[in-house]
Amino acid sequence: MLLTEFSPLAAIATTPAAIKILQGLDINDVSIWVPELLSGMQGTKKYTNSLKNHIADLWQTHRAFVFCLATGAVVRLIAPLLQDKSTDPTVVVVDESGKFVISLCSGHQGGGDELARLIATQIGGATPVITGSANSLSLPGVDILGIPFGWRRGEGNWTGVSAAIARGENIGVIQVAGSTLWRNRLPERHPFDFAESSHDQGQIFITPYVATSSPTIPTVNWHPRVLWVGIGCERGSSRELIETAIREVFKEYGLAEDAIAGIATIDIKADEVGLVEFCQSRNLPFKTFTADVLKTITVPNPSSVVEREVGTPSVAEAAALCAGLEMLDTRDGFPKDNCKEEGQLLVPKQIFRFPMPNSQGAVTVAVAQGEKEYIGRHGQILLVGMGPGKLSQMTPAAQIAVTAADAVIGYGLYIDLIAPLLRPGQIVEALPITQERQRAQRGIELAEWGLNVAVISSGDCGIYGMAGLVLEELQSCGWDGKVPNIEVFPGITALQAAAARVGTPLMHDFCAISLSDLLTPWEVIKKRLEAAAVGDFVTALYNPRSQTRTQQLGIARDIFLKYRNYNTPVALVRSAYREDEQITLTTLEQLLPESVDMLTTVLIGNQSTRNYGDWMITPRGYLGFGNH
Ligand code: SAH
Repeated sequence: MLLTEFSPLAAIATTPAAIKILQGLDINDVSIWVPELLSGMQGTKKYTNSLKNHIADLWQTHRAFVFCLATGAVVRLIAPLLQDKSTDPTVVVVDESGKFVISLCSGHQGGGDELARLIATQIGGATPVITGSANSLSLPGVDILGIPFGWRRGEGNWTGVSAAIARGENIGVIQVAGSTLWRNRLPERHPFDFAESSHDQGQIFITPYVATSSPTIPTVNWHPRVLWVGIGCERGSSRELIETAIREVFKEYGLAEDAIAGIATIDIKADEVGLVEFCQSRNLPFKTFTADVLKTITVPNPSSVVEREVGTPSVAEAAALCAGLEMLDTRDGFPKDNCKEEGQLLVPKQIFRFPMPNSQGAVTVAVAQGEKEYIGRHGQILLVGMGPGKLSQMTPAAQIAVTAADAVIGYGLYIDLIAPLLRPGQIVEALPITQERQRAQRGIELAEWGLNVAVISSGDCGIYGMAGLVLEELQSCGWDGKVPNIEVFPGITALQAAAARVGTPLMHDFCAISLSDLLTPWEVIKKRLEAAAVGDFVTALYNPRSQTRTQQLGIARDIFLKYRNYNTPVALVRSAYREDEQITLTTLEQLLPESVDMLTTVLIGNQSTRNYGDWMITPRGYLGFGNH
C-alpha cells in the first residue's frame, strides 16, 4: 500500500536468476516480463517482440521500471525514450547477483532513490546505489522537500538551484507560508540561508504568491496550499464566472492559484451547481459554515444587506477566515476564540458582476491565509515494532515502513538504533521515554494532517508498546476506524529475543507479566503472578525493576517460590541483541533483584525446565505426566 506511487510497475528479467530476484519484490501491481524462452515461470508474463519495442510499448503507461539487467543494456534501451525528468517513469536497475540496486533515472523527483532503497531491503541486504547530489549531502532534494506537505512546485529554475546546492553555494530561503518541519533535521553544514543575504547564489521561495524571480541568480517557487477562497454568489452563478472571478483576483493580488487550499461559503450554498462543479474540476475541498458561525467572525467589510438576506453580515470574508482557522472547535463548529482575523485576510471581498455570454449571476471573492497548509491526502499511522534493537532482527516490512514514512516518532534510544533506515528530509521526532501518550498524540496529529507517520516501539509494538496507546487515543477522539488508516508491523518481542539468547525456555506454555504498576494496580499484578506460578507457566517478567520501583521483583520471586522448586532455572537477559547485552543464568532462590534493571527481561522456567551448560531448556512435553 505504501508503494502505490510506483504502480503500475514493470519488472524485466532475461535470465532465470534475474527472475528469482524479481520474484522477491513485494509491491502491488507489478508485472514481471520475461522473454518467450523463459515463460511459464510463476508470476511472469512473456513479451514476444524485441525487448526494445516492448519497453517502448510500456513506457507511457507505467510509472516505474525495475530492470534486472546490465546497466549498459538498460541505458541503451531507455535512451531513446527519455524526455524530461519530471515526466519520465522511475527507472531502477538491480544486478543479477542481487547485491546492488541502482537508482538510474527520475531519482528523487520520481522517487527512484526511495524505490531503490525499498527494493534493496526487499531482496535482502542489497546496497542501494544513489548518486544524486542531494543524497550525498544528506539534504532533502530541493524539488521534493515540499511533497510530504502537499506543496506544489511553481515556476523556477530547478536544475539551476540544485546545481548551486551541489556546488556548495549559499541558497537563500524565503519562507512566508507552510510548515518549517522540513528544516528540523538538516545536517550541521547545509547551504540554506534563512536570513537572506547578498551572498546567496540561489533562492527558494516558499510562498502563496506567484513566481518571484531574480534576474541574476536561479530561483524556485514552492506553493504551500494555505489559501482559502471565500465565495458568496447569487443563485445560478456559473462555474465560468466563479473561475474568472478567482483568476482575476489572484492576478491582481499576485497570488498563485497553486496555493489554493479550498473553497468556503455559507451552508445554504452547499448545493450551488457552479461552485460544486468548480471544486470538482480542481479537486478542491468545499467547506460550508452556518450563518450563526459566520457572524461570530469580525470582518473588515460587513454588509447589512447581506445580513438581512442570509443572517450574517459577511459570507465571503467570514467563510475564508473560518476555513483557515485551525482552531475550529469541532464539537459545535464555532471558533474557540476570536483570533486576529484581520491579519489573515489577504484579499478583502471583491465583487464581480460582469455579463458574460452564457453566464449569469454575481460572485464575491475574499482570500484568507490558513494557519497550516492543506496537504490534500489522508495520512496513515504505521505502528512499527523494531525488534530488540539490532537492525538485522527487524522485519524487512518494518524497515520499509520506517524508510517510506514522512515522519518517524519514537523514544530517542530507539531512533538511534534505527538511524541507518532514515532518509534525508524525513521528519524525525524523538521524545523522552516517559512521554508515550504525547508520542501517540503527536503521531495522530501529523497523520490527521495528511502525513504518513511511523510510530516506533521496541520489540513488538502491540506488546506493552505504542500500538495500544495510539489506538486507544484514536478511539477516544471518535475515530471512524478508517481515517487515518492504520497498519501494524509486528516485531520480535523481548521474551522471544531473551529466550533465543539462552536456548529454548519457552518451549511449553508460557505467559508474560509486566511488573510495572504505573498503569496497572499492584494487586492485579500480584494475582496474575500467583496464577502463573500455580499454573506452572514459564513466565517472562517485563519491566521487572526501575530506579524507583524496586520492591516488586522480590515479591514476585517469593510468590513463585511458594509453588516452584528453589532451583527452578531463571534467566536474566539484559539488552538482548544490543551492544551492551548481558546474560545471567541463575535460579529462583538465588535471583538477586538488585542485579536486574529496566533493560532486563526475567525468564522463570516451569517445573521441567533445566539448565544445561549455558543453555536453558524447557522440554516440549511433561515427561512422566501421561501421553506424549
Ligand atoms: N514492546 C516491547 C516491550 C516494552 S516494555 C517488546 O515487545 O519487547 C519494556 C520492557 O521490555 C523492559 O523493561 C524489558 O523488560 C523488556 N525489553 C525490551 N527490550 C529488551 C531487550 N533488548 N532485552 C531485554 N529486555 C528487553
